[in-house]
Amino acid sequence: MRLARVVLFYSGKSNVQTWKFFATLSLVLFWAAMNDIKKLTRKILRFRDERAWKPFHNPKDMALSLVLEATEVLEHFQWKTERECREHIRHHKNDVAEELADTLYWVLLMSHEFGIDLRKALPRKLKKNAAKYPLEESRRLSHIRISRRIRKTRVKKVP
Ligand SMILES: [Mg+2]
Repeated sequence: MRLARVVLFYSGKSNVQTWKFFATLSLVLFWAAMNDIKKLTRKILRFRDERAWKPFHNPKDMALSLVLEATEVLEHFQWKTERECREHIRHHKNDVAEELADTLYWVLLMSHEFGIDLRKALPRKLKKNAAKYPLEESRRLSHIRISRRIRKTRVKKVP
């Protein structure tokens, strides 16, 4: 709500003022998010080191653990329709959150152990993905897929 008010305020300003404001805001938000990654990684390292688990964390077993935790996210949705999945999330949000957190634990731990700076890797990969999936083409394909899905739904409803 506050952000909406700020956007409204700046929409009445000149383009340069608006551009400067949003560029600064983006930098601040980006810095805050990146700082969160550092803080979370420090918490994870403390948790692991207090338990003396580091000797067991070789690359293969960490990768296995990452995938296993990701499959625990998947377990929540196995054999469910899209509607059932959304219903499940509503009633089991905390359980799903725990599995996502378990997955993130391994992502952050692995990136730390491998000397990978996710603050740089993520924007770099997003840039690469943006080139791989150009905006117009992606939107066009998405529109086609949605249209097909709607058509399929209509066909199913006919007795
Ligand atoms: Mg788990």
